[in-house]
Amino acid sequence: MTSVRQWDILIIGNGALGLFLAEELATRGAGSIAVVGPRGRASGASQAAGAMLGSFGEVTPETLRTAPGRARFELGRAAHRMWPGVLRRLESEGAPGHRPLRVAQDSYVVLNTSGSYLDSANFAAITAALGAYGGPFEEVDPAGIAGYRPRADQRALRALHLPGEGAVDARRVIAALEARIVRQGVTLVDQEAEAVIAADGGVGGVRLADGSRLEAERVVVAAGARSGPLLRGVAQAADPMPTFAGRGFALVGRRMAGPPFESVVRTPNRAFACGLHVVPLGEGREYLGATNSVAAEPLNSVQMNDVHFLTQCAMQQLDEEITHHEIEEWRVGSRPVTLDGFPLIGWSALPGLYVLTGTYRDGFHCAPLLAANAANELEGKERLIDGMFAPSRGLIHTRTVEHAIEEYVEHCLAGWFESQAALHGTTGWLAGIYRRQATAFYSWLGLDFGLGPDLVAYAVSSRQNAREIRRGLREHGIQPGAGAASGSGSGSGPVSSAVAGG
Ligand SMILES: Cc1cc2nc3c(=O)[nH]c(=O)nc-3n(C[C@H](O)[C@H](O)[C@H](O)COP(=O)(O)OP(=O)(O)OC[C@H]3O[C@@H](n4cnc5c(N)ncnc54)[C@H](O)[C@@H]3O)c2cc1C
Repeated sequence: MTSVRQWDILIIGNGALGLFLAEELATRGAGSIAVVGPRGRASGASQAAGAMLGSFGEVTPETLRTAPGRARFELGRAAHRMWPGVLRRLESEGAPGHRPLRVAQDSYVVLNTSGSYLDSANFAAITAALGAYGGPFEEVDPAGIAGYRPRADQRALRALHLPGEGAVDARRVIAALEARIVRQGVTLVDQEAEAVIAADGGVGGVRLADGSRLEAERVVVAAGARSGPLLRGVAQAADPMPTFAGRGFALVGRRMAGPPFESVVRTPNRAFACGLHVVPLGEGREYLGATNSVAAEPLNSVQMNDVHFLTQCAMQQLDEEITHHEIEEWRVGSRPVTLDGFPLIGWSALPGLYVLTGTYRDGFHCAPLLAANAANELEGKERLIDGMFAPSRGLIHTRTVEHAIEEYVEHCLAGWFESQAALHGTTGWLAGIYRRQATAFYSWLGLDFGLGPDLVAYAVSSRQNAREIRRGLREHGIQPGAGAASGSGSGSGPVSSAVAGG
């Protein structure tokens, strides 16, 4: 016989978003709450995150170029202001003498030439955003950054000090949140939700992997990169936005030689990823991150290629003494990525079903604001963020095809040089190969707007991936043009180029 239990609000997903939401609701006394999610959090993004509390450090020329980009950036700024209060709350209940959850107070963004022109463009965009928004910063001599001793040929010649942008220890924040919500009476259900159940024209609850059911009239899907399958079929009206998994790899090492880092030190975003960075975790431990490659599904493992790339970058671009680090943890997690790169936040078309995902690279940082916003909406109050990210929305278009092709080329070049691939031609020749590759993809797809460079890289890496993107667009009501309907015409498909993406 299957057991049935009833709750006021069910949250599917025990990552940063699910836990911050549970805490917000419990603090408001919003009734009985359960958070469903396996304790191990395998492939979850939050347990693998840095977790830098950065907004200016994340800026690229895309950030402030369009209204949706600005809205997304300002969401991060608003979340940033909430963190001092969050940390006071979480730490007020810790044992006396506990280590602070905030492990770094500030960040340095270094501009080196290990990548490509993209780094310079992003560095300039960061500086411009700091000016436009009045963010505190100072240009400093990179040689003076504690712990920063790159190989001579990989050293930075410019660096920005961002005093407001540090980092927290993601795993200890998760543990502190869990401890607090359990004290507040929230129930943690150490299981996977198999399906969302609809009942009487609205949401009715969830079915768990063991066959039992949890009932509630309000259900929140916050299952990160695994949210898509739970929403498919129940969200009604239009299918939900296709989501992908931005697999990231990071390491935690114990320092054995040389002076430690005292701040976050990072490059600008580059090569489809959040840039190379180190986060000092305290007690001699340093987090080194992070790679990013888009996949159809979350994966718990990592390719040797990514391991080699990250370790080489860290040893050469951050500190040569990292070669002696004792590796204590391998962290793999999947960032929730949507087809248009913007989050999905708000009520779905099925009454009572709320969606909270698609945060991609800075969801840990944004979680307190997104939780407060979701709690308001669940209580029938005014929302705190722009409604443009509602899950029932169409794709947000921010790029022309031409713009998207050039952006893809820039990311590929950055990845090419950072991985130290040998070049037997000019940079312009290499750019031409990537440009032809992306152009072939777009003409096959027949789309009249552009996608993010990371999704193009995913699409051009195999025919199956390209078809998946096309299917996702179709399912979301976008009919790619004639080129897509008839294939490439030449039969070679979108991935015929000799060079695979980044
Ligand atoms: C390597 C890496 C570095 C990052 N660095 C940063 C950073 O520096 N700063 C920052 O702000 N962000 C960073 N991010 C991004 C950030 O981690 C994410 O945006 C954010 O954590 C997403 O949180 P979430 O709760 O939506 O998803 P997740 O953390 O993925 O949580 C989803 C949870 O749902 C559970 N789940 C999945 N399926 C089910 C199911 N069927 N039933 C029940 N539970 C389920 C999973 O086990 C998981 O624990 C990084 C991500 C990665 C991978």
